[in-house]
Amino acid sequence: MFTIHETDYSHSRQSKSPETGNAIGVSPDPSSSILGMISRVALPHRGHWWLLCIVLQVMPLFGRITYTLSFEDRFEHYVTVELEVDGLRGKSYQDFKMAVWTPGSYVIRDYARNVVELSAKSTLKDLSVSKLDKNTWRVNLDGQRRIFIHYKVYAFEPTHRTSYVDDDGAMLNGASVYIYPDGMEGQECLVVVNKPRPWDNVTSSLPWVGGRSPVFRAANYDILVDSPIMMGDHTVFDFEVGGVPHRYCIEGEGNYDSQRLLTDTGSIIEQIHNIFGSVPYEDYTIFVQLRGERGGGLEHLNSTHLVTSRWTFSPAAAYTRFLTLVAHEVFHAYNGKRLRPVPLGPFDYERENYTELLWIVEGLTSYYDQLLLRRAELISAENYLDLIAADIQRVEAEPGRLTQTLQEASFDAWIKYYQPDENSPNTTISY
Ligand SMILES: [Zn+2]
Repeated sequence: MFTIHETDYSHSRQSKSPETGNAIGVSPDPSSSILGMISRVALPHRGHWWLLCIVLQVMPLFGRITYTLSFEDRFEHYVTVELEVDGLRGKSYQDFKMAVWTPGSYVIRDYARNVVELSAKSTLKDLSVSKLDKNTWRVNLDGQRRIFIHYKVYAFEPTHRTSYVDDDGAMLNGASVYIYPDGMEGQECLVVVNKPRPWDNVTSSLPWVGGRSPVFRAANYDILVDSPIMMGDHTVFDFEVGGVPHRYCIEGEGNYDSQRLLTDTGSIIEQIHNIFGSVPYEDYTIFVQLRGERGGGLEHLNSTHLVTSRWTFSPAAAYTRFLTLVAHEVFHAYNGKRLRPVPLGPFDYERENYTELLWIVEGLTSYYDQLLLRRAELISAENYLDLIAADIQRVEAEPGRLTQTLQEASFDAWIKYYQPDENSPNTTISY
């Protein structure tokens, strides 16, 4: 039931060096670009360079997609997005959609509820837009190949499943920000960040492809959604594990000892690398927002986004919980992100993506998150057994374990585990 979809994602980690050529949407990888497609056809015919030149002149770049983010309304917690789509040939209309959920968090969130002031135009004229359903906008192309969609997203929810912006910075989770042109999810896209002057840093696990403003490239919509961006005055701590670059990006002040945090995290990640025997990413980013009351995190392909209390780094029990969360999310870089059930990628962003195997994706990861701390010798054997005992006690105290199987718990996570009520302990069990 498991499959390795390494090729779906791995091509996101291309060269990290600035490639200003990408600013016009031509990929440096000739096999994946329109230039490459043309060259494979045209170049074998010697003396036909003039033909190639004409083709390049008249042929629009197919499906060029660029998101430009700006923050002039950040005081009111709005992100302004201008989406440019080029190469729309032979169509009378194009539909645009907003995701209804984000991978890793299995509940319908209807991100379109935060979209306002959506309009469309070309370089010549305004284009009519009609709303088809809760998350779909239809743009009448009126013969235009290159169009611009303008909209704003209200972002005032500082969780690992949503986005937040204020005067000091922004933390953007892709599913809640980027509408996508329907049918073009497989295409490469660029993200241009018009950073407000006071903001020092813009950080993403996406390759930075240059430009005066930060410009990131995503190989497809799945990669884009899977790559949060943190902006503002967050602190960046770089460290290496087995020669592989890692970094913490921490927003907000907290009671952490940075040297100890980096050393302990490095020890945990080293244990994860040892289990699998290889490292599936070129670099890894741990985004931390110190503004929540309780800990929570979401796994991404080459990063994780944690939201937790600024006081989580002591006493020891709280720090152990935080390191367990880090271990859990980094472990997901393997289990869940690359080794995963078939329905979990490429994703359908419009509806529930059902699987009976969340107990593997989450359960196995949860089993290892505490064990990794013991293997890294960050907790004692006695401490570890206490944690396991507490887990067992919690499960045995819930009558729901006798009525719901792990497969059922996985499949119904969308309507049960993620939507608990007063009867949940009697009828459900955590996968
Ligand atoms: Zn998890």
